[in-house]
Amino acid sequence: MIVVMKQSATRAQIVNVTARIEQLGCQVQISEGEERTIIGVIGNGRPLDREQIERMDGVERTVPILRPFKLASRDFHPQDTLVPVNRVTIGGRQLIVMAGPCAVESHDQLLEAAWAVKEAGAHVLRGGVFKPRTSPYSFQGLGEEGLRLLAKARDETGLPVITEVMAPQQVPLVTTYADILQIGARNMQNYALLHAVGQAQRPVLLKRGMMSTIEELLMAAEYILSHGNDRIILCERGIRTFEKYTRNTLDISAVPLLKQLSHLPVVVDPSHATGKRELVEPVSQAAVAAGADGLLIEVHPHPEEALSDGAQSLEPDRFARLMRRLQPVAAAVGRTL
Ligand code: PEP
Ligand code: MN
Repeated sequence: MIVVMKQSATRAQIVNVTARIEQLGCQVQISEGEERTIIGVIGNGRPLDREQIERMDGVERTVPILRPFKLASRDFHPQDTLVPVNRVTIGGRQLIVMAGPCAVESHDQLLEAAWAVKEAGAHVLRGGVFKPRTSPYSFQGLGEEGLRLLAKARDETGLPVITEVMAPQQVPLVTTYADILQIGARNMQNYALLHAVGQAQRPVLLKRGMMSTIEELLMAAEYILSHGNDRIILCERGIRTFEKYTRNTLDISAVPLLKQLSHLPVVVDPSHATGKRELVEPVSQAAVAAGADGLLIEVHPHPEEALSDGAQSLEPDRFARLMRRLQPVAAAVGRTL
């Protein structure tokens, strides 16, 4: 449930209510809004006497929360969560574009991509070094060598970097290099991994599983939140349907729905959603129009030579054009780029 305090509630009354709830064996999350304070209560499975709390000084009312996700829900935390990443903030008025190759392949490939996306106005550099490939014979990523290249690209361009972590044992290593930890679609329900990134001191970009519901995505975020990390960015990257012209089907309604259900920022990955570079620009515009807080886009200096996802990777000039064509859409929905 949540406890809505009166506008006139004093600090002492809030402390008192919080202490009582904790005494009853529940956890609290305090959310201080502009007008009033809301206390989120996470139960311990035993029924809680709401009337007892409602009789306390300073309490206006209590509201039961029937949704299974609590910490991730907007009821618990009405204001938007902002996720700072070095000099940028994800979830504010400014749209954040994360771009770069699917996989880090070599020094020259990564640096060429990094400078190209930076010059076009991207805010974060992406690049996978641990790649979840369908075939064990496909390129699996450069591992730690790739992380060192990402660190070099960050030093040279100043762009923070995001990269995927596939296993709990990789979290300490990836955390020493990356500014954002990416949880891939195939690992959205890898609970040991969610636990590990929940304890990591880094923002996490959590991708929706290709066969997962919105509620399952929010429950996965709840795992990370319940282990202490509230710097989460949700990512809609398309789900699997019967349609074959696109690699996945972008669930555009997930964007406003997630923003309604949760306080966490939401970004869209138009590259994996469509699988086709010709579709990336219009789908990016649609994502921004629908209220996304940012985009995750694959860009490769020579897509025809890419070791993974070449068909959906943009050439640098096409990415630069996309960035220009996002401007009017961003402005139309009151956002900046
Ligand atoms: C990726 O971002 O390169 C990736 C593997 O994406 P997803 O987990 O969405 O398939
Ligand atoms: Mn990819």
